[in-house]
Amino acid sequence: MSTPSAKPVDSWNACLNTSLEQEDPEMFRLVELEKYRQYSCLELIASENFTSQAVMEANGSPLTNKYSEGLPGARYYGGNEYIDQVENLCRTRALAAFELDPAVWGVNVQPYSGSTANFSALTAMLAPHDRIMGLDLPSGGHLTHGYQTAKKKISSSAIYFESLPYQVDMKTGVIDYDRLEQNAALFRPKLVICGASAYARDWDYERLRKVADQHGAFLMADIAHISGLIAAHEQKSPFELADVVTTTTHKTLRGPRAGLIFFRKVNRDGTPTDLESRVNMAVFPSNQGGPHNNTIAAVAVALKQVATPAFRQYAQQVRKNAAALANALTAKGYKMVTGGTDNHLVLWDLRPVKLTGSKLEKICDLVNITLNKNAVHGDTSALSPGGVRVGAPALTSRSFKEADFVQVAEFLHRAVLIALKIQDAAGSKMMKVFSDAVDKGAAAEDIKILKKEIEAFARSFPMPGFNPATIKYKEEH
Ligand code: PLP
Repeated sequence: MSTPSAKPVDSWNACLNTSLEQEDPEMFRLVELEKYRQYSCLELIASENFTSQAVMEANGSPLTNKYSEGLPGARYYGGNEYIDQVENLCRTRALAAFELDPAVWGVNVQPYSGSTANFSALTAMLAPHDRIMGLDLPSGGHLTHGYQTAKKKISSSAIYFESLPYQVDMKTGVIDYDRLEQNAALFRPKLVICGASAYARDWDYERLRKVADQHGAFLMADIAHISGLIAAHEQKSPFELADVVTTTTHKTLRGPRAGLIFFRKVNRDGTPTDLESRVNMAVFPSNQGGPHNNTIAAVAVALKQVATPAFRQYAQQVRKNAAALANALTAKGYKMVTGGTDNHLVLWDLRPVKLTGSKLEKICDLVNITLNKNAVHGDTSALSPGGVRVGAPALTSRSFKEADFVQVAEFLHRAVLIALKIQDAAGSKMMKVFSDAVDKGAAAEDIKILKKEIEAFARSFPMPGFNPATIKYKEEH
């Protein structure tokens, strides 16, 4: 493609108007192969989704060229008249998506991701070494909620703040709110964080607010996983009770990869807060530089979609599909942590069938099912998690319904049987022995057959965002 200009293009600038395919065939090929992989696999990672063509168009737009440090109307760079409108539109839509009164809530839409949103939120609310309580990672919590092990402070949220996690009840897998309250009475946190990456139940925000109030602490809800469900009224909203709410935009919200921080402008008793200036300052200049304007535009597009009745239907179907999957697996005798799900994901405890999450993940990878191994409460080894996390958001974007998820459960069951066959034949439970054995013996043929069936099944569903018929490179993997 050439520029529609009268002047000739300098030879050293010729690369600026060529397509990716022409300019960098090596990278183009990888992008095409990844598209084909997404199309050919059953995408069950609970934190992933397939975003729309319109979102990807905005994300790949020339808005990426612009610097706009600061906020709309108060930038450190010129030329931001349209970028200001982009960011303001995104802010308005973010508040509208969660039905928030702009007099009571504000939002910063600049965080690059959920992790940076969380660290900026902590920076806004806390001083170094202040005490925080979040759900422990092995209980389903996220790294950024203060994760540390006995030997090491892993997350910067544990390095710069003092963290005492709370956990799920080791018998039921449900959050142990009584113990959280007891421990908080001793630890006296400045911030209580709720939200999770691998928890299949809804939250008791009243209880958490009560604990925070007992210590004059902030309550922050990280709704990264369930924000799409909350916007669609498919999970309880924390906005009535929380001081700050953070989210990613690429999970159930189905946008591009980014983060948002919502902050109260007015306390529940009607007094003003200073959170607006604290949050805005924490994002820039404390933790970030120039906003990614292309991403902010793409978030705005996704939030427009979130506010539609169609998105509500989508979110309802996500929950129905997750429940159908949990029921179908349970009917086959498998154990779901907490006995089922209220939301978009299922945490599947594989310990009763004497399999680890790593082994099932490995077999699933080989048969075109994408999911992830996950710790299950009570696991003794972090290196060998006892379960897998399975989510419905992505395949629901591909128009899967309950009956399709029953079929997915059947495929998963066959993957378990293959994994057990390999483990038994290998005569050892070690992962290395297992990995070495997967392409040998009778199980190798089972893998091939199952993969073929799954591929055909996956490719029979629509693909959001791009047309699979136009994919130029295809590779069986
Ligand atoms: N918060 C929660 C609850 C998450 O599950 C995640 C990611 O999975 C994050 C924050 C971090 O988001 P990101 O990967 O965009 O940094």
